[in-house]
Amino acid sequence: MKCLKVSAIRFFCFLIMMVFISGCDNINIPEFDQHKAYSYLQEQCGFGSRVPNSEAHNRCKDYLYLKLTASADVCRKQDFIYYDQMRTDTLYLTNIIASFKPEDKHRILLCAHWDSRPWADEEADSSLHSQPVMGANDGASGVAVLMVIAEVFKNNPPPFGVDIVFFDGEDYGQSGKADEWLLGSKYFAKNIGGYLPHYVILIDMIGDSELNIYKENYSQTHANWVVSRIWKAAELENAEHFLPDIGKSIYDDHIPFLEIGIPAVDIIDIDYKWWHTIHDTPDKCSPESLGEVGRVVLRMIYDKELHQ
Ligand code: ZN
Repeated sequence: MKCLKVSAIRFFCFLIMMVFISGCDNINIPEFDQHKAYSYLQEQCGFGSRVPNSEAHNRCKDYLYLKLTASADVCRKQDFIYYDQMRTDTLYLTNIIASFKPEDKHRILLCAHWDSRPWADEEADSSLHSQPVMGANDGASGVAVLMVIAEVFKNNPPPFGVDIVFFDGEDYGQSGKADEWLLGSKYFAKNIGGYLPHYVILIDMIGDSELNIYKENYSQTHANWVVSRIWKAAELENAEHFLPDIGKSIYDDHIPFLEIGIPAVDIIDIDYKWWHTIHDTPDKCSPESLGEVGRVVLRMIYDKELHQ
C-alpha cells in the first residue's frame, strides 16, 4: 500500500514535469497544413505556365491577389513594365504585396516568385527549349507555402509586422545575362522608399520530393546570423532536410536586398533534376517537403527564443 502511494506520487510528478517541458518547447507555434499547401501548388499549375503576358499569368495574378486579400490586413499590386530589347517585347508584370500588422515598425519580409520560366532551356532535346516550364517546384512551391502562412497569420497574428511578397519576372532571363533576371525583386528593392525590414527570407524550389537544402552561399556570407537562426529553427522542428553544409551561390530574389544592405536568406534546393525542363510538374513535389519548410518558417516567426 505504501509502495503504491509513493509510485503514484512519482507518476504525478512525472506528468507535471512532462507538461512543463512540452509547454516550454512548442508553445504557441501554430500548425502548418502541408496538404493545403500542396493543393495551392496544384491550383497554380492548373492555370498552366504562368509566363509573363500570358492568359495563365493574368488569371493566376487575380487568384493570388484574392487569396492574399482574404488573409492580410492590407494587400496591393505593384504593377510595372519591363521592355525586353532582345525580343522587342513589353512585359506587363506585377508584384503582389500583403501586409500583416501594417502599423508595426518592426517588420520582416517573406517572399517567393510566382512567375514561370518561358523557356525549358535545360531540356536535353533542344527542340523543347521554346516550350514554357510549368514551374511546380520553380515558382509554385514557395508561393504555396506562403499562401498557407498568410492564412495562419489571419488566425494567429504574428508577434511583429510581416510582409509577404510574391515577385514577378524572376525567371525571365537568358543564361549569362544578369540584367534580365529577378525583375520583380529588383523593381521592389529600387522603389523600397523608407521600408526597412529587419531581414528577408526567400523560399524557392522547396517542393522537390527529394529535398536537400544547403546553406546558400551568398546568404551565408552576407546574412550569416539569419542563416544561423533558420537552421536553429530547423533543428527544433527536426527538419532533417536542412543540411549543415554550405552550398552553391545562387543569383536569386534575395540579391537585390543584399545589394542595398538588407540581410536576406535564400532557402533553396537547386539540385532538382527537372529544373527548367517541361517536367517540373506537381508529381515531382510532395506535401512533406512543403510542410518541412512551412514549419521552419513558422518557428522563425512564433518562437520568441529565435527573436533575440
Ligand atoms: Zn527558375
